[in-house]
Amino acid sequence: MKAAIIGGGINGLASAWALTQAGHEVTLFERDGLMGETSSASTKLLHGGLRYLEHGQVRLVYESLQERNWWLRQAPDLTHPLRLVVPVYRTSSRPRWKLKAGLWLYDRLAGRDRIGSHQWLGPGELTELAADLDATGLKGGYAFYDGQMDDYRLGLWVADQVRSLGGAIHEDEAVERVDTEGNVVTEAGSYRFDAVANVAGPWAEALNERSGVPCGYHLDLIRGSHLLFEGEPGAGFLLESPRDGRAFFSLPYQGRTLVGTTEVRQDLDQPLACSEAERDYLLEAHNHYFREQRGAGDIVEAFAGVRPLIRSSEDPSRVSREYKLERRGRLVTVYGGKWTTARRLGEKVAQALKA
Ligand SMILES: Cc1cc2nc3c(=O)[nH]c(=O)nc-3n(C[C@H](O)[C@H](O)[C@H](O)COP(=O)(O)OP(=O)(O)OC[C@H]3O[C@@H](n4cnc5c(N)ncnc54)[C@H](O)[C@@H]3O)c2cc1C
Repeated sequence: MKAAIIGGGINGLASAWALTQAGHEVTLFERDGLMGETSSASTKLLHGGLRYLEHGQVRLVYESLQERNWWLRQAPDLTHPLRLVVPVYRTSSRPRWKLKAGLWLYDRLAGRDRIGSHQWLGPGELTELAADLDATGLKGGYAFYDGQMDDYRLGLWVADQVRSLGGAIHEDEAVERVDTEGNVVTEAGSYRFDAVANVAGPWAEALNERSGVPCGYHLDLIRGSHLLFEGEPGAGFLLESPRDGRAFFSLPYQGRTLVGTTEVRQDLDQPLACSEAERDYLLEAHNHYFREQRGAGDIVEAFAGVRPLIRSSEDPSRVSREYKLERRGRLVTVYGGKWTTARRLGEKVAQALKA
């Protein structure tokens, strides 16, 4: 089968990888450079997503935990297990028993090859781990494990797998139109394929719309921003914002501290960048927990990405991170999809194109 993939983010690359592994002739079109959008603007976590358990998304968490473990095994040079701590304060909205129940389930869902079990740490153990952590009202906290990755380089590693299996990757070639007959029109010319997958992430729905292809699902585009400071914290932290109780991370990442993220609706025609309001929100949230107060002048880098979520709730935190595939004739469109689950998504795209 001659197949085209539109989009060189992790989901497009993983789809191309699954198809080349199955022996198909694959051409991937990326309008700019590979891994230049959402897939390199993530929180860098290979994770099940502890907080999705609160919303009852057990199947998604189970699949994500299996995939987390798979990436850690496949690419040990670009990934590693990361110890995360959830501190419990007298003022925390989530009680200790609730966290304990969630982490117990998280460990069970990770299965036998989980990377470590959760454990309770007293206040002394926590401040030993991170001397900077504000100990006022601190009761202790739970430590648990997830994975961390260099998202950009891990995506390029997947691209190398695609090329080594004979897949063709056309960078700087934007797709202008698709149809359900296997036709793809790019800036450079027209092509015909047996099957086409639109895996353009946040831009997937817009591409179908301008091609006159109806969409059975609609995307909710939610921007998320991160800040980077010099110096690594002693551990990764999963914290709740004092302003609205939203979960956010403060993580060690390549010698720096990565703080994020936010949830703000984004239009595709607006510039994609961390706003001043998001910057202040993240600084306030981080400074609430750590004694060394950071200001705008301490930010060494800020970046933003847009999540392609399937529209399902007014509250962005509650919008499901599940993905859906829709087939019309020879065209399969992908809506949504986390980084961690890209391999599974890619396998499903390959199956859907063959069907
Ligand atoms: C702030 C934030 C934090 C996140 N953190 C995590 C995390 O820690 N762990 C996790 O598992 N997930 C995380 N996610 C989710 C994850 O990053 C995304 O769901 C995933 O990267 C989406 O990948 P994609 O390939 O679908 O989209 P993208 O990476 O956006 O790729 C789509 C590609 O399509 C290209 N394209 C668009 N239109 C065209 C066209 N017409 N022709 C050719 N090419 C086109 C774009 O240039 C782009 O490269 C996070 C998301 C955000 C926004």
